[in-house]
Amino acid sequence: SIDFKWIRDNKDAVATNIRNRNSNADLELVLELYAKMLDLQKEVERLRGERNVVANKMKGKLEPSERQKLIEEGKNLKEGLVTLEEDLIRLTDELQQEAQCIPNMTHPDVPIGDEDCSTVRTTVGSPREFSFPIKDHLQLGKELDLFDFDAAAKVSGSKFYYLKNEAVMLEMALTNWTVSEVIKRGFIPLITPEIVRSSVVEKCGFQPRGENTQVYSIEGSDQCLVGTAEIPVGGIHMDSILADSQLPLKYVAFSHCFRTEAGAAGTASRGLYRVHQFSKVEMFVLCRPEESDSYHEELIRIEEELFSLLGLHFKYGSLSPSQCLSKQFTSGHMNFELLCRTLDMATADLGAPAYRKFDVEAWMPGLGRYGEISSASNCTDYQSRRLGIRYRPSEPPSSTTPKKGKGNVPTQFVHTLNATACAVPRMIVCILENYQQEDGSVKIPEPLRPFMGGLERITPK
Ligand code: AMP
Repeated sequence: SIDFKWIRDNKDAVATNIRNRNSNADLELVLELYAKMLDLQKEVERLRGERNVVANKMKGKLEPSERQKLIEEGKNLKEGLVTLEEDLIRLTDELQQEAQCIPNMTHPDVPIGDEDCSTVRTTVGSPREFSFPIKDHLQLGKELDLFDFDAAAKVSGSKFYYLKNEAVMLEMALTNWTVSEVIKRGFIPLITPEIVRSSVVEKCGFQPRGENTQVYSIEGSDQCLVGTAEIPVGGIHMDSILADSQLPLKYVAFSHCFRTEAGAAGTASRGLYRVHQFSKVEMFVLCRPEESDSYHEELIRIEEELFSLLGLHFKYGSLSPSQCLSKQFTSGHMNFELLCRTLDMATADLGAPAYRKFDVEAWMPGLGRYGEISSASNCTDYQSRRLGIRYRPSEPPSSTTPKKGKGNVPTQFVHTLNATACAVPRMIVCILENYQQEDGSVKIPEPLRPFMGGLERITPK
């Protein structure tokens, strides 16, 4: 349930936000449709009232002519009502459709502008210095026989791939290791459906159809392939009221992701970097509204810990990884650290549902630049309003007068957050390019080795 009254009462702020976020939402149209809907609702209520008056009169003793008159009147009212009720349903649908495009409001600290305006929050490490000519992941994959893009192009089309040999093990190790690390931090593991209803995609703030959609829709059905596990996990508690004691709910979900990648091109999209199908481990949190900013920080801290652990071929000394994260590193004694930076994404790069989004980028030597490896968003109540996920606080909010008795505390919408724990292909790019050796082999990051039968490096066959 989108809060149209709030949107109307905060029209200027909403309009500024739409502009800042480069959104094509049509606020004027939404407000016009909302006003029409309110008028129509009033008219429907008025006619229903009149119909009840007529029905009550019919219960009494009446002259036949009088009864006949009332029957006529009742019939006309009923016909009028049916038409208006149909109009109301159509108008409400149109309003909902238009309003889906209105983006979430924005955290006051988010930089305003396009991607270039995003600000760096943290930088960890510095790029590894190579004493030999470096190869990109495509060349490494070819020499080590790890992928087959040609066969995939024949079988499926461009931007598909077969993983082969150690790359298969690497994908499985990355997902297993990540899921087990996140479980340790108190998350519930899930494997989700990968086909979902279009309505759920929409309620999560994505456009399932249209020119620039990233979503594959299944022809002749109302279903889509998931672009991210955020959608099926978001839908788990759809249309329900959670108990206060159930919160926070923290999930870590594995799914494949399917994306059309409409409009994406260029060298940065080569190889595994931007593909139509990939595996991803996603974290998802449902929490009380007042806690979402701190869970956002927790999610980004977990991401940073995971990425640091994957670069742990050096000693942190007595510092914990998260303490190290707050320091700016220089290279020197560290051999294989992945250089990461976290960005506070600018307004135009937030998409519709996020109130604030932190992206982590890793240095990709083959690309010669940073590449996004993860993204953590606080969606506040944007998705929960649309999905109908509420909770009943154990205490009434201080602004409302407490009523006596249980169950009188008003329900509120939860806040939802999502964050990438491991987007597999980009991690493979990162690992191959950062861990390549002069002899053409690639070292396996230490934490992944137990998940790869102890394998320490991938060597040319
Ligand atoms: P998103 O859900 O769009 O925030 O994406 C989450 C993460 O998935 C990104 O940070 C990337 O690491 C990765 N990713 C997104 N799109 C693709 C793609 N087409 N191919 C490979 N990885 C992707």
